[in-house]
Amino acid sequence: MNLIPRDYRGSVLEITPEYLRQRGLGGVILDIDNTLIGHNVPVPTAEVLDLLADYRKNGIQICVVSNNRRQRVADFCERIGVEHYVWDALKPAAKGYVRAAELMGLAPERTAAVGDQIFTDVWGARRAGCYAVLLKPIHRGKEGLFIAFKRALEKPVLLYLKIKGMIK
Ligand SMILES: [Mg+2]
Repeated sequence: MNLIPRDYRGSVLEITPEYLRQRGLGGVILDIDNTLIGHNVPVPTAEVLDLLADYRKNGIQICVVSNNRRQRVADFCERIGVEHYVWDALKPAAKGYVRAAELMGLAPERTAAVGDQIFTDVWGARRAGCYAVLLKPIHRGKEGLFIAFKRALEKPVLLYLKIKGMIK
């Protein structure tokens, strides 16, 4: 089922180079909002920046995939030193993830796609064949109406993940 992540984690900080290596993954596809940064926060925490440095040190490829517009994604990636990114990804379409894998020179199956929304990140990642990791959102804050709608739809899936023991 395309809405079920392969894993559920409390934070992107748990997706370490070691985590990726153990699963045979060579690259990581990252969402921005509520994955790398909280709502309306311009820069990631020092811990997240350290994680990105750790990826680079370990030869892990990084690509940001976002539904945001070009300027915002480009500015953000420049600030955090990420070279590969896809803007206007139209998640949950698969194409942004496929493009990300291409940019990193990896098959989608060899990438982890990490994000906080089931009906955006997990769905798109699964369709593309990535190893989809669902995160607990950093800080829900004031989400727009459309996101609130998708969050409501997430409830039965989250319940399923609880029953399966993926969410403790
Ligand atoms: Mg997000």
